[in-house]
Amino acid sequence: MGKLSHLHLDIPKSQNKRIIVIGGGFAGIQFIKSLKNAPYQIVLLDRHNYHTFQPLLYQVATAGLEPDSIAGALRHLFENHNDFYFRMARVTGIDPEKKKIKTLVGELDYDLLVIANGSKTNYFGDQQMYERTFPMKQIPQALDLRSHLLQNFEQTVMSPDQDEQDRLTNFVIVGGGPTGVEVAGALGELKKHVLPKDYPDIDFDIMKLHLVDAGPRLLAGMSEKSGDKALEYLKAFDVDVRLKTRLEAYDGKDVKLTDGTTIPAKTVVWAAGVTGNVIDGLDQKAIERGRILVDSFNKVQGHEDIYALGDIALLKEDSYPNGHPMVAPVAIQQATLLGKNLRRQLSNKEPIAFRYRDKGSMATIGRNKAVVDMPKFHFGGLFAWMVWMFVHLMSIVGFRNRLVILSNWVWNYLTYDRGTRLIIRTFIRGKNYKPGDTL
Ligand SMILES: Cc1cc2nc3c(=O)[nH]c(=O)nc-3n(C[C@H](O)[C@H](O)[C@H](O)COP(=O)(O)OP(=O)(O)OC[C@H]3O[C@@H](n4cnc5c(N)ncnc54)[C@H](O)[C@@H]3O)c2cc1C
Repeated sequence: MGKLSHLHLDIPKSQNKRIIVIGGGFAGIQFIKSLKNAPYQIVLLDRHNYHTFQPLLYQVATAGLEPDSIAGALRHLFENHNDFYFRMARVTGIDPEKKKIKTLVGELDYDLLVIANGSKTNYFGDQQMYERTFPMKQIPQALDLRSHLLQNFEQTVMSPDQDEQDRLTNFVIVGGGPTGVEVAGALGELKKHVLPKDYPDIDFDIMKLHLVDAGPRLLAGMSEKSGDKALEYLKAFDVDVRLKTRLEAYDGKDVKLTDGTTIPAKTVVWAAGVTGNVIDGLDQKAIERGRILVDSFNKVQGHEDIYALGDIALLKEDSYPNGHPMVAPVAIQQATLLGKNLRRQLSNKEPIAFRYRDKGSMATIGRNKAVVDMPKFHFGGLFAWMVWMFVHLMSIVGFRNRLVILSNWVWNYLTYDRGTRLIIRTFIRGKNYKPGDTL
């Protein structure tokens, strides 16, 4: 980004105390909703001007959904809130002494700070993986993967070289958690039902899907039964699942695995985990394993007037001694409670301590197949898939998005088609480009 020193955040003074919220993710937007019409000035800062519904990113990456349908414009979400300001700005630092945050467009004072800036892809410090694999955390990344995989097939039809064809049509997915399993299932669907119609000149037996995980089973965060079912479903898609295996090296052409295998592949999807997005400035004692330590009221350890919510927050509860799973319901429940506690504080009531209510987890693996873990029972198959669809549809931000997603799903289901198989790359202006030029 160019120099931004001529800009400033320009937030008017208010008679209300100012709460700065960093991040318009699940936690940030829920927190702001829970304080609607409370006597606070709320300033939301996010590096994007939209909220991303990350659970459906993989469908954007595999041409199932339009990117806009899984996003919600942050200004629009809060247009009916009083004393609310949004600024699209990346927060680069926190100064707890002066009660200020720092951004590329200047600093801003806070009375209360709520850090809800989520997590980022964890490459475990491996620069090669960062540079050469496809992450799945933001919409531009999902779109990049969509264009890349379609470009691979465009090149396959024109490539006379068998090795090159293999490299273009082998897909390696690293990580057997919900994201990896869902990506593998969606690619399996594309291979079986969609791509052969677009590319009749390709024999799709050539397209190979490989899923690699270091652990002994899939879906480690879910029940063993669900992990086994997911494996069964993926095998039905001919996915080569390699457990207790790690990716050892990748030069952009060949994947070397710890089991000694080499797979020629131009596409490696990195779904091996996330880590907190820690911003500079907090006391180092408040940081543990890439997350911010908070007490049971989500207050950051060792800091006054600073709270952390969602993926970034590490709250150790009796039944979660290592912190909660980095999932949306945790973020939403913490945000709702913090809003409620701030309202209670206004009427001199004691705050309530956080306890996570786990309502279950789920993952889908292609059409008609999903696994659902409820606290007391587990199920899979068609009913689980319908539950998965209903829950995701009801959780997405905005009625319009729900309608668009529902119509896409119905269309895809009935026609075995995917409407968004478009290669759309970022437009990069040439050196001599002038605004108004026709290229
Ligand atoms: C591919 C994928 C699939 C998932 N599937 C599921 C699922 O099926 N079910 C489930 O429960 N959970 C799922 N999750 C996890 C879930 O999305 C997260 O737990 C949830 O988003 C956490 O909410 P959050 O508010 O803490 O952070 P986020 O929702 O990540 O929001 C963080 C926000 O902060 C902004 N931000 C980051 N850094 C800065 C900065 N320095 N300055 C300004 N803004 C910043 C970001 O732009 C973003 O808007 C999935 C995650 C991924 C990546």
